[in-house]
Amino acid sequence: MKIISYSELVVNEGGKMIQKGMNFGIQKTHSVVLMSTEKNAPYNDKIFDDGVIEYEGHDVPKNISPDKKSVDQSMFNESGTHTENGKFVAAATNYKEGKKDPAKIKVYRKIRPGVWVDMGFYNLTDAYKRHDGVREVFKFLLEPTFEEVHEDRDYEDLLHNRTIPGEIQREVYDRDKGKCVKCGSKENLHFDHILPFSKGGSSKTSSNIQLLCAKHNLQKGAKFV
Ligand SMILES: [Zn+2]
Repeated sequence: MKIISYSELVVNEGGKMIQKGMNFGIQKTHSVVLMSTEKNAPYNDKIFDDGVIEYEGHDVPKNISPDKKSVDQSMFNESGTHTENGKFVAAATNYKEGKKDPAKIKVYRKIRPGVWVDMGFYNLTDAYKRHDGVREVFKFLLEPTFEEVHEDRDYEDLLHNRTIPGEIQREVYDRDKGKCVKCGSKENLHFDHILPFSKGGSSKTSSNIQLLCAKHNLQKGAKFV
């Protein structure tokens, strides 16, 4: 899980200035979603211990309803075309009915203004509605995939890197001042479990997570195999 700036995010996505949270089919090979972990985050996204993300659908636009947090989320625009919610529901339905492979989703998580975590790729495997106490919202299940796995890395550890809670990521980023704890580099930073999950280390406490540059992260990965 690499920490990147917004401009690196744009480069990753072939120069597309991604602003919206949900971007179905924005690339030929994949869709993109943005998550926020800030206290005032507009949506209630969750990450379960198995690394699966439950991503909340998005509200109707302000011009349709100024009080959008009390209005049911919608699959359709006024013109009858699919909203982003609708596109994600259709893709999940096609997958569940065996008509298509799961849609591939790239997830980026904002931990500070201008500071993003590249969470990697997920498969969109389910979509459903939930009542959030006020209105109906969509929920989308995103299951982590590991196409980028190197043979020398432990699958379990890679999975658990993706379950580090947002507030822990923020805390670690601030504590380590956005630098590798070994060499002070600000380039190619990754979150690292000091004691790997596979050796009993926790993802849920900042004292077991640190920032490492790519070089020191790889060195460490090799040491524990
Ligand atoms: Zn380093």
